[in-house]
Amino acid sequence: MQRRLKGSFFVISAPSGAGKTTLCNKLIAKDGNLRPSVSFTTRQPRMGEVDGVDYTFVNDSTFRKMVARGEFAEWAEVHGKLYGTSKKRLKGLLRSGFDVILDIDTQGARQIRASFPEGIFIFILPPSMAVLRDRLEKRKQSDAKEDTDIDKRLKRAVEEIREALSGVTGDNIYDYVIVNDAFKDALTGLESIISAERLRTGKVEARWIKENFLS
Ligand code: 5GP
Repeated sequence: MQRRLKGSFFVISAPSGAGKTTLCNKLIAKDGNLRPSVSFTTRQPRMGEVDGVDYTFVNDSTFRKMVARGEFAEWAEVHGKLYGTSKKRLKGLLRSGFDVILDIDTQGARQIRASFPEGIFIFILPPSMAVLRDRLEKRKQSDAKEDTDIDKRLKRAVEEIREALSGVTGDNIYDYVIVNDAFKDALTGLESIISAERLRTGKVEARWIKENFLS
């Protein structure tokens, strides 16, 4: 008899350079019940990325066919490439009892909020635009990422923050905001949200309560 019902999922978005990937990787490494939702993308793998682990890399035509067959829970064009979350993968992980992290952009988060509102939506902010610029410049020097146009990314960051948090769209996509100033504190914040979600009454199997305490 299981104590818990199916898993929860956490949608995490952030402007490029806010530290989202490092935070998500650390969370997943520390928590055995947490799995990443491996997205499909049409972008090229970067050095060290593994197909099926970091992303499933597909060409445009395959991706478009998947869209036409309704296989994505959400999909979007980000920095000129297509990215999508497979419904089958997401549902499979949740059914197996795992909690799932979806590292997706604001367009994807909006779609998921509309069709799977039971998710928990978290937005990660850098401490300021000046810090974000600084981090992007450092990253450019150290990893020569193929398309790091800093001004473009900063402009996109402002758009994402406006869409996510300014209230201009009238509906809040995100439930929580974490400012990634000190990494350790940001990680603790994320872990607290996940722990609290796991303790919700709605996540406890009613049959387990009945058999253990009421029979
Ligand atoms: P990168 O190419 O640097 O790994 O990711 C670029 C952006 O695409 C990030 O903001 C990431 O969150 C977003 N992204 C990754 N996978 C998905 C996805 O499946 N759907 C959407 N909408 N965005 C995604």
